[in-house]
Amino acid sequence: MSKFLNEKISKLSAYVPGEQPKDKKYIKLNTNESPFPPSKMAMKLAKKELEKVMLYPDPDCSELIKTIADYYGVKKEQVIVSNGSDEVLNFAFIAYCDDKTPAIFPDITYGFYKVFAGVNGVPYKEIPLKDDFSIDTNDYLNEKGVIFIANPNAPTGIKLPLEKIEEILSSNRERVVVIDEAYVDFGGESSISLIEKYDNLLVTQTFSKSRSMAGARLGFGIASEKIIQDLNTVKYSTNPYNVNRVTACLGIGAIKDDKYFKKNVDKIIENRVFTMVELKKMGFEFTPSNANFIFAKTDKMGGEELYLKLKEKGILIRHLKGERTSNYIRITIGSMDQMKKFIETVKEILGEKV
Ligand code: PMP
Repeated sequence: MSKFLNEKISKLSAYVPGEQPKDKKYIKLNTNESPFPPSKMAMKLAKKELEKVMLYPDPDCSELIKTIADYYGVKKEQVIVSNGSDEVLNFAFIAYCDDKTPAIFPDITYGFYKVFAGVNGVPYKEIPLKDDFSIDTNDYLNEKGVIFIANPNAPTGIKLPLEKIEEILSSNRERVVVIDEAYVDFGGESSISLIEKYDNLLVTQTFSKSRSMAGARLGFGIASEKIIQDLNTVKYSTNPYNVNRVTACLGIGAIKDDKYFKKNVDKIIENRVFTMVELKKMGFEFTPSNANFIFAKTDKMGGEELYLKLKEKGILIRHLKGERTSNYIRITIGSMDQMKKFIETVKEILGEKV
C-alpha cells in the first residue's frame, strides 16, 4: 500500500476471485462458469464486429438492449446492460445506499455485496440464514435499507419462491429491493414478471453462467423505467462505454440462439442430478441446489482438506472459510466427463482415508 492511498480504500478488504492457478491443467469446478463454449451464432457475430473495434461502441447498446427487452417481454427503457452483473450491482449500491440507507443481505451469500458496500463507504447489515441455510423472509419485512437477495442464493443454490419475494417487495415499497438472478436459469423462478407491479424491484442477471460468456463480461438489470434512468446516471458518470462492441454482439447472438442455451441448461441440470446422486451414495449431504453448483459436506473429511486433496489431483473446487461454511465444499457443475472424473477422484480420496 502506498502512502498516498486514502483512508476509505486503505481499510478495504477486496473481493478475492476464484483461483486460476497456472502450474498445471486443472478441471475447473470453482467459479461457476459454463463448461460449454459460447454459441456459434454469437461467435460469428462477434468475429465480424472485430473489424470495427477502432470505433467506440454504441454507449446506449441499443441493439443488445432491444434483444434482451424483446426476449424478456419488457420495454427497452426497462433494461440496462453492464460489464458483468457485478457492475450493475455496484451501480445499485452507488445509486441507492448511503449513510442512512444501509445495504441489507444474508450473512451467507455472494461475497461481493460486502465489498461493494465497503468501496462505496456505505453501512451494511447481514441477516443470518436459518440453520438449514434458507432465508427467512420475515427477517426482511421491517428493514430500512436496500435489500440484496441472490435468488437462487450462492453458495447454497437454495431458491425462494416468487410469493416470498413479493412479501419482501410489498413491505419495502419505499426502498429498492435487488434480486440477483445470476443462477436463475438453472431452476430458479425469475422475478422479472413482478417488475410491472413493483416499482422498487431491480432484477439483475448475467451472461457469465448459463450463456457461457464469463470471459466476455456481460450482465444486465431489468426494472421500472425510472430505476433504469437512475442506473444510467451512474453509468454515464463512470463508464459510458461499459459494454464493448464484441461483447455486445456475443450477447445478441447468445440470446438469439435460444435452442443452444436451453440445451446447455438442460445438460447442466442433468449433470447436477448425476453428481448429487453419486455424492449421496458416498454419504454427502447438500443443500437443495437450483444453480450450476452444489454445496456439499461429508463427515468423512473437512471441507478444506477435501479441497486441497482435490487440487493436488488436478480438480479445483471452492472452499469458503467461515464458521458455518468451512465444513462445506462448493462444486461447479461441469460437463458429464468432468463430473465423472470428480466423483471418481472423491471416491479415491475418501478411500485413501479409510
Ligand atoms: N451474483 C452472484 C450471486 C454471483 O455468484 C456472481 C458471480 N460470481 C455474480 C453476481 C457476478 O457475475 P458476473 O459479474 O460475471 O455477471
